[in-house]
Amino acid sequence: MDDAGFMHLAFEQAQKSYDEGGLPIGAVMVEDGQVVAAGHNRRVQDGDPVAHGEMDCIRRAGRRPRYDRVTLYTTLSPCMMCAGTIVQFGIGRVVVGEDRNFAGNAEFLRSRGIEVAVLDSAECVELMARFIAEHPRLWDEDIAGKDG
Ligand SMILES: [Zn+2]
Repeated sequence: MDDAGFMHLAFEQAQKSYDEGGLPIGAVMVEDGQVVAAGHNRRVQDGDPVAHGEMDCIRRAGRRPRYDRVTLYTTLSPCMMCAGTIVQFGIGRVVVGEDRNFAGNAEFLRSRGIEVAVLDSAECVELMARFIAEHPRLWDEDIAGKDG
């Protein structure tokens, strides 16, 4: 499966969260072409402020000794909390669905030696934009009003 294929799996996680009334941001962790874990934002579902999509995916992957051969797919450009976690654990590569609805921290990740690709996925852009239009307060709360 290629980057677009894995990103679609992350999108399916985002869609699942949207269908649950939560923020439509999904993530998939891949190593050696195999899906290790998938997750999505659970702030609304679990009442957990740090349960962003990337954090949920990393948590569901469980303990791992190293992450340098891991690629993390995320439908939306990572916030600083998630970017910091990616740097802390040394995740080797990050593939971002889109950075139109949220600029995020791709440059920060690159500055720390992490490979970042931005796919500009139309389905990721459209679902996030729909959610922001429908639930502006939930979106503002998710990123505490920040743009990166
Ligand atoms: Zn985040």
